[in-house]
Amino acid sequence: MTLTDQFHRKVNYLRVSVTDRCDLRCIYCMKEKMDFLPKKQILTLEEIERLCDNFIDLGVTKIRLTGGEPLVRKNIIELIKKLNIKKNSSNLKEIVLTTNGTLLSEYAYDLKKNGINRINVSLDTIDQNKYNKITRFGDLNKVLLGIEKALEHNIKIKINLVAIKNFNENEFCSIIDWANQLKIDLSFIEVMPMQETDIARHLQYMPLNRVFDDLNEKYKFYKSEKNTGGPSRYYKSPNLSINVGFISPITNNFCSNCNRIRISSTGKLYMCLGQNDYIDFREILRNDYNDNYIKEKIKLALKIKPLKHDFMINKNSKTYMQRHMNVTGG
Ligand code: SAM
Ligand code: SF4
Repeated sequence: MTLTDQFHRKVNYLRVSVTDRCDLRCIYCMKEKMDFLPKKQILTLEEIERLCDNFIDLGVTKIRLTGGEPLVRKNIIELIKKLNIKKNSSNLKEIVLTTNGTLLSEYAYDLKKNGINRINVSLDTIDQNKYNKITRFGDLNKVLLGIEKALEHNIKIKINLVAIKNFNENEFCSIIDWANQLKIDLSFIEVMPMQETDIARHLQYMPLNRVFDDLNEKYKFYKSEKNTGGPSRYYKSPNLSINVGFISPITNNFCSNCNRIRISSTGKLYMCLGQNDYIDFREILRNDYNDNYIKEKIKLALKIKPLKHDFMINKNSKTYMQRHMNVTGG
């Protein structure tokens, strides 16, 4: 069984935001004062599992748990355990996680034990003071310890790093060299104009084509064979043993290969990260509709998955997106 959208793109990758809450407040992701949703609006773990089951039946092979911060969700390991069991008997092949890493040292063992072999850790700086500033109060040492523990448990780590104007641009080479020492891949990400945070987007935004050109002078990049089917374009360098990726939704649109859909923590299915349309599954799940009905709704969603996002950032552009990144988890 394969899910295909109206533009004949195969969609086999589901990203699930398991909570809107987070233990950090990264300045490009959230406002300092955020109103999180009442718990009863958030899907229960059983509801998330049932929704995943239906997507898996329809051909989803990969699930990424994200948030908010997925590791602050109570009993998250229980959900992962249940999903992991399905890998033996269904279309599901892989469960992965995107985390800020603050709780990774505590969870690394349980994650590995329950089938998580790859984790993306979001880390925009390796300078303690700057880390504290960008996350508004985070402690870099916790994340570094988390990465260390995950590597000890043979979990493959990739670093995701948002390029932020006047913040981390003079650190890019040292972060690449640090990742190279640890032998972990990393991807640069372009700031996306999700709902406003406290700083205007155009003041945060750095076009990644410029970042690439600058780094290329030093690293002499050439195309890597690594291709995860995702938006990251990977490069190798004669000076590095790792892959360096660039995720540039604005300067290099990648929508023609989009293979993913996203469920928010409240059960809204977003067909595109950069559009506002959704189908709400929470009331369907809570009103005793059967799985066939859920599957028909999922197929309908694929029929209306948009061709591309309309991200744009400039001084005069108005924010079109009505949600922060923690709603859909990137
Ligand atoms: N809390 C987890 C973490 O930080 O990895 C998972 C959720 S977080 C919303 C997922 C990813 O979105 C992170 O890599 C974060 O850096 C990125 N992100 C958040 N807001 C963004 C924005 N406006 N533009 C680009 N990336 C953003
Ligand atoms: Fe939290 Fe992740 Fe958003 Fe940072 S990027 S505030 S860690 S959800």
